Amino acid sequence: MTEAIPLTAPVTAPPTLTPTVTEPPAGAEPLAGSPGRPLPAAPSRRAVLAGTGAGVLAAAVLPAAAARAAEGPLGEYDVVVVGSGAAGMTAALTAAGRGLSVLVVEKAPTFGGSAARSGAGIWLPNNSVILAAGVPDTREKAAAYLSAVVGPEVPADRQRAFLDNGPRMLDFVMANSPLRFRFMDGYSDYYPNLPGGLPNGRSIEPDQFDGNLLGAELAHLNPAYMPVPAGMVVFSQDYKWLNLAAVSAKGLAVSTECLARGTKAALLGQKPLTMGQSLAAGLRAGLLRAGVPVWLDSPLVDLVQEGGAVTGVVVEKGGVRGVVRARRGVVIGSGGFEHDAQMRAQYQQQPIGTQWSVGAKENTGDGIRAGQRAGAALALMEDAWWGPSIPLPGEPYFCLAERTLPGGLIVNRAGTRFVNEAAPYSDVVHVMYEKDRGATGSHIPAWLIVDQNYRNKYLFKDILPTLPLPDAWFESGVARKAWTWDALAGQIGVPAAALRATLNRFNAQAWSGNDADFHRGDTAYDHYYTDPNVVPNSCLAPVWAPPFYAFRIVPGDLGTKGGIVTDARARALRADGSVIRGLWAAGNASAAVMGHSYAGAGSTIGPAMTFGYVAANDIADTAP
Ligand SMILES: Cc1cc2nc3c(=O)[nH]c(=O)nc-3n(C[C@H](O)[C@H](O)[C@H](O)COP(=O)(O)OP(=O)(O)OC[C@H]3O[C@@H](n4cnc5c(N)ncnc54)[C@H](O)[C@@H]3O)c2cc1C
Repeated sequence: MTEAIPLTAPVTAPPTLTPTVTEPPAGAEPLAGSPGRPLPAAPSRRAVLAGTGAGVLAAAVLPAAAARAAEGPLGEYDVVVVGSGAAGMTAALTAAGRGLSVLVVEKAPTFGGSAARSGAGIWLPNNSVILAAGVPDTREKAAAYLSAVVGPEVPADRQRAFLDNGPRMLDFVMANSPLRFRFMDGYSDYYPNLPGGLPNGRSIEPDQFDGNLLGAELAHLNPAYMPVPAGMVVFSQDYKWLNLAAVSAKGLAVSTECLARGTKAALLGQKPLTMGQSLAAGLRAGLLRAGVPVWLDSPLVDLVQEGGAVTGVVVEKGGVRGVVRARRGVVIGSGGFEHDAQMRAQYQQQPIGTQWSVGAKENTGDGIRAGQRAGAALALMEDAWWGPSIPLPGEPYFCLAERTLPGGLIVNRAGTRFVNEAAPYSDVVHVMYEKDRGATGSHIPAWLIVDQNYRNKYLFKDILPTLPLPDAWFESGVARKAWTWDALAGQIGVPAAALRATLNRFNAQAWSGNDADFHRGDTAYDHYYTDPNVVPNSCLAPVWAPPFYAFRIVPGDLGTKGGIVTDARARALRADGSVIRGLWAAGNASAAVMGHSYAGAGSTIGPAMTFGYVAANDIADTAP
């Protein structure tokens, strides 16, 4: 697809820790054959002995526990980026592009975080890719839409920063990495009826990327949440059509195209990557090309502060701690706290835990807590990038199409509907929590009910139409099956008479095409993951053909969205609004520019990358 990246060795090796480092850390070596950049200056033996090295700095300014554990200096860079996800890698790429020396420290043994696991839809209004595709977007339309979606609680200057820098960020990434992007034509904004909303959407996703370009480093790519079927090349945008392959000519054509792409890639000897795999690999390729080291297995433990400013990080490697000094700034891009049970219990509504999140398991709020200890204010901690999910054995399943295809509906414990099932996924869970509040168990879990007619037509997760569902789903109790509505009601513990009444009313509305109760089908977004062959309303079909199935629905998430409060320059702020010098944050470690909302497909990655870019540029623009 693009030129190969010269790569003779992965840059993941940790530095050898000694108290008197005289050579630059091994991880900071530029790649043979890469453009390279001046090596960061490591403190000399004399400097350390004279008391000016980072080891002495650590002892002077670290919290006591961290200082005790600090074994010595690991190096010194202009910028240290924490986390190698969407925000972190974009920040690092930008800082390197601005001529700064950069280190990325990553907790996991792999790079990419949730971004690598993701579908990598990217919501970026008015960008060059969608404009080239003829999308009628403008800065004004986008501003009207964003402000209508997020409301006044998100400061206007942060909204402006996102809108102004998103398109610039994308152009920068394309100029400085092998990544290319494609318009997700037809993937509607989530509120297309609001001012400035676009029914055909303004989201993009990465183009196909050949993993060979990463060489040995490909082995360190965090795997996808749902791997693409072997032999196929599938984009996020294809998913809608793959669901419909059994019932739609276009669905069949798209499936065939996915296979053809897979065959072509195999013939060319490529390792084709798409979605989050492509995004993470492409950003990593940019870092390789720029000579930016990424230290895997190297979690941030704490921030180093000096005179009220953040001047470095304490990192742990193989159980040994040391300090990396950041001359110009630290960018926290360590993701959310979706996998930290204590933080979830502290900040979020019950029932909550870590078991329903599909986010990267290393995202345990480390950077958020370190920022808080350094004085940062936190916001939006009660919220997440929610989505109705089925708690399947092994791993939760984040439902997209299954919830919105015609022939299904969601009921609460009373056996009644309570939400537009096709509404944006975050909104559905907000309603679940709101209605469950004070009546615990009334809406969590809820149940998705479908019939055999539905099962004969559509993919369910990765189970082909008509094929039986795995026994383990039934044995674990997350799926139920019965031959009558009443028997199904008994199995899921809802009043049979109420479920009967609900289904009769739902079926009548499906025949008429008018969901007077919850307005399913009123917007273009509702119709995205549906079956266009179904009339008069592609979102609605009656549930009448036995056997009937029920799937337990819980509030899952793609990650949390609350964290360090930042300003329009991505600088970390204290509760009084003052800036913490030396500290920037982006992505899910920061409180989202989306506020409590979700504007369109890619509303987490678009802002994460944009504010990573903003942070790095701000560091470069700020005098040291
Ligand atoms: C299955 C799935 C599908 C998704 N689909 C989409 C989509 O299509 N569009 C969209 O916009 N969003 C999507 N998301 C959400 C999106 O992936 C995340 O919101 C986004 O990646 C957040 O970016 P980030 O850089 O903040 O965090 P991440 O990408 O998660 O990166 C954070 C990194 O920080 C590392 N880290 C954590 N703690 C430390 C520490 N102490 N020290 C060093 N490193 C640390 C983590 O290991 C991780 O690598 C999806 C998520 C999942 C799981």
